[in-house]
Amino acid sequence: MERARKLIAGNWKMHGLQSSLAELDSIIAGLPDGVDLGIHPPLTLLALFARHARGRIGIGAQDVDPGVFGARTGEVSATMLADAGACAVIVGHSERRAYQGETDVLVRAKAEAARAAGLLAIVCVGETEAERDAGDALAVISAQLAGSLPRGSGTDFAVAYEPVWAVGSGRTPTPAQIAEVHAAIRARVGQAPRILYGGSVKAANAAAILAVPNVDGALVGGASLTAADFLPIVEAGARAAR
Ligand code: PEP
Repeated sequence: MERARKLIAGNWKMHGLQSSLAELDSIIAGLPDGVDLGIHPPLTLLALFARHARGRIGIGAQDVDPGVFGARTGEVSATMLADAGACAVIVGHSERRAYQGETDVLVRAKAEAARAAGLLAIVCVGETEAERDAGDALAVISAQLAGSLPRGSGTDFAVAYEPVWAVGSGRTPTPAQIAEVHAAIRARVGQAPRILYGGSVKAANAAAILAVPNVDGALVGGASLTAADFLPIVEAGARAAR
């Protein structure tokens, strides 16, 4: 099943200040019909962006603590994110798996906490270059899915396939490689969850990537930071749905 509407989500990572509100305005002003758009700014901007967006686009977080309230200095719960206006949260991004040592068990707990608070969890999976070269990409992704997807029959999550070697590198898998991985993810999660591709999506490759079977949208890092770079990708998402 190919969904009519694609989801294009921008991961701003550790970029953005209050002055970035002007960029958010430009992105919202250029939003075409027929596509769902989300921006995941740094936590410092989440409530401001959510108030400002007024539901015209989704505003999400980049991480969450699995707890609800408690003695967890520096952490923020899914309940708090929802209270601040978030509708979604990225969990298990490869940068957090690498730099914060996040495990599948922790990523699953985060995804389940997001679900409990009514947030869409975007669960990231993806192989390293060495794993792909060794022919292990599908096995690695299968193990990540088995360990980090929320349990139960709910469909209130999305999966982002983000090859580690493609994130921020300017390199992307071939359409055939993306198709192979997305088909494997689809076989595991069923028809309902969206499956996004992420890793060096830009204006020049967005249409080709979004045309691959089982690609329901894109998670975009660097090219989501400015309206000039991001809107052509969002427009490709709108066109791909027609
Ligand atoms: C990401 O970090 O989720 C990402 C896809 O980054 P980039 O688009 O910059 O490769």
